[in-house]
Amino acid sequence: MARVYNFSAGPSMLPESVLRKAADEMLDYQGSGQSVMEMSHRSKVYDAIIKEAEALLREVMNIPDNYKVLFLQGGASSQFAAIPLNISSKDGKADYVITGQWAKKAYKEASRYINANVVASSEDKTFSYIPKLDKSTFTPDADYFYICMNNTIYGTVYHELPDTGDVPLVADISSCILSRPIDVSKFGILYAGAQKNMAPAGLTVVIVREDLIGHAQDICPTMFNYQIHADNGSMFNTPPCYTIYIAKLVLEWIKNDIGGLEKMYELNVKKAKLLYDFLDSSEMFKGTVVPEDRSLMNVPFVTGDDELDAKFVKAATEAGFVNIKGHRSVGGMRASIYNAMPYEGVEKLVAFMKKFEEENK
Ligand SMILES: *Cc1c(COP(=O)(O)O)cnc(C)c1O
Repeated sequence: MARVYNFSAGPSMLPESVLRKAADEMLDYQGSGQSVMEMSHRSKVYDAIIKEAEALLREVMNIPDNYKVLFLQGGASSQFAAIPLNISSKDGKADYVITGQWAKKAYKEASRYINANVVASSEDKTFSYIPKLDKSTFTPDADYFYICMNNTIYGTVYHELPDTGDVPLVADISSCILSRPIDVSKFGILYAGAQKNMAPAGLTVVIVREDLIGHAQDICPTMFNYQIHADNGSMFNTPPCYTIYIAKLVLEWIKNDIGGLEKMYELNVKKAKLLYDFLDSSEMFKGTVVPEDRSLMNVPFVTGDDELDAKFVKAATEAGFVNIKGHRSVGGMRASIYNAMPYEGVEKLVAFMKKFEEENK
């Protein structure tokens, strides 16, 4: 068996021990005689799985009691509509910071339902930085303030949160959830698609402060209404059962094997530093993001020569470093180094880049 180092932006690598455990339990989950894929979501055995997944997420992320955790479907993209439909009104207002395609899509979708306002954008420089925010430009009576915390395509991250006062801060954390400790109490809503750092595709986790639940617009589809899902313990309809089970295994891995989010963060810093230090010293490869806004999870880089980029991507793929081609809007390369990418994977990639640079001077 030869496993590659997968630098995909998502779906992405899962910890090998998680995959092995899932394989071991595939045909007979803990003596139930069934796979988790086959069992009723209303069964006792499944109920224990979803409850444990939530309890672990609460523990690992230190989620306060006045927040609900919802396990939903529809991807992070569904939340672009669900958020305005749940916590704003037809005449309501919200501020958006446009730091990339995902933030822009969220803004455009919200604009269909509410008065969405752009307070800042970094589109002028291909989203290679996080804009400096001026509080005096914020809408004081906005229903929420929206950011995309880690910009998967462009490799930027907020190292400092905007000060929004009493206006609930809403953040898309699809590509940075579980990568480091985060103070949940600073947010009204945190949400993430699972397929970057938590589980396979199919699960969307929404962490929402309780006072924001119960104000959905009349036109809000039942399936988008947080109240419905909160009242039914994410079991209003069939949840993405198997994906939630894998998320539970990933959370056990973070808690027991890694030692929690502080430790996870240390590892992620160490891993990213290795790659950024190399990029800063290389004559051939250059990072595309301003140093102060660099993401720990997604690292875009270029050689400045499209043909050389293509040659590198091809050679890297043949050497077992796959999905390293950059997003079409940035070009070049992007190494996504989520939690499950081992340190050794980045070490080997850097060694490969050094060798490529030597051979292609
Ligand atoms: C991947 C991604 C999305 C889209 O997720 P889907 O689950 O495919 O809808 C949204 N936001 C961010 C930050 C992402 O990385």
